[in-house]
Amino acid sequence: MNPLYAGMGTTIFEAMSARARATGAINLGQGFADGRGPEAVLEAAARALIEKSNQYPPMIGLPELRQAVADHYARHQGLNLAAEEVIVTSGATEALAASLFALIEPGDEVICFQPLYDAYVPLIRQAGGIPRFVRLQPPEWKIDKAALEAEVTPRTKLLLLNNPLNPAATMCSAEALSAIADFCVAHDLIAVCDEVWEHVTFDGARHLPLIGFPGMRERTVKIGSAGKIFALTGFKVGWMCAAPHIARVLAKAHQFLTFTTPPNLQWAVTEGLATQDFWVQEARHRFQQGRDRLKAGLEGAGFVTLPSAATYFLSVDLAASGIELGDVAFCDRLIDEAGVAAIPVSAFYAEDPVINVVRFCFVKEDATLDAAIERIAGARAALGKR
Ligand code: PMP
Ligand code: GLN
Repeated sequence: MNPLYAGMGTTIFEAMSARARATGAINLGQGFADGRGPEAVLEAAARALIEKSNQYPPMIGLPELRQAVADHYARHQGLNLAAEEVIVTSGATEALAASLFALIEPGDEVICFQPLYDAYVPLIRQAGGIPRFVRLQPPEWKIDKAALEAEVTPRTKLLLLNNPLNPAATMCSAEALSAIADFCVAHDLIAVCDEVWEHVTFDGARHLPLIGFPGMRERTVKIGSAGKIFALTGFKVGWMCAAPHIARVLAKAHQFLTFTTPPNLQWAVTEGLATQDFWVQEARHRFQQGRDRLKAGLEGAGFVTLPSAATYFLSVDLAASGIELGDVAFCDRLIDEAGVAAIPVSAFYAEDPVINVVRFCFVKEDATLDAAIERIAGARAALGKR
């Protein structure tokens, strides 16, 4: 068997959710929202299932959805993508796999930032690539230009950027993106940008796509996910957008990964992108209130939290909170003793992990957050000791 997979554990998100299901713990681990998502999208999915074709849709996606994605980005991010530059995938995860498999040749090096989404490294390795890590640290998780330059070699082919960044909950400034764009152009790199959190941003801040920066239009793959835009993570409808010379090759990788994505969900997302801007805007406000509620509750219980500018997540700094446990031990005890599931941030590092940060998901009903806060506060004194 392939040692890459044979030696691998189960992803932390599934592992924690399975423990929460088994024990009845409140699940603030894996990132998914309470609530049903926009009703119009659910109705469109149900209607399409009954009224439209359930046979294979076009391999690269329904033309209507590809146009809706292009229109959506023109409206929200001022981009000039053509429908031909959008390929629909089964979630952003498949878009990541297709992009990395299509662009990496064995021995190519890929610059990525730690903390990183846990799918990245296995996908890079399976493609024969070699990840080169730039390590980011709390509380600012800032990209250091010298550290970036230090990872470049003659084999560097790609830069893989997650912005906004899960689990750090940070968003790159225009200045940082401009520096990354200059770096990609100077070293002739393609950027694969995982922007699934692009709409889940707070305090009035706006996400800026790297593909919109000078020199990047022809060398960027922009990845998005309807699961995040409409808080319907089970939908697994995503896309990758790139200039035609790249998109053509991405499509070849996609055709032998999943080939296509369920048509009724594609119709539903088409409808959602065309009609649900208001829902997305409202959800952003609701999620921000959840963030503030959890932050106030955790701080009231004596925890120090890190800033959360985007994503579904708020993190606690254990060391700053006077807790000597590492993140894994803390999460183990939190689920066993307090009945609350969270995610240890060390799971987002392939090497040299940050071990004092724990991530909580706040896109939950107020009552769920309040119950979790009460449990965590109740366990605080015991968890403070080794
Ligand atoms: N990238 C990042 C950074 C994510 O956080 C997630 C899931 N939350 C994904 C990709 C996967 O998205 P999807 O469910 O659309 O495959
Ligand atoms: N991205 C989600 C998170 O960070 C999990 C996705 C998954 O479980 N595949 O929690």
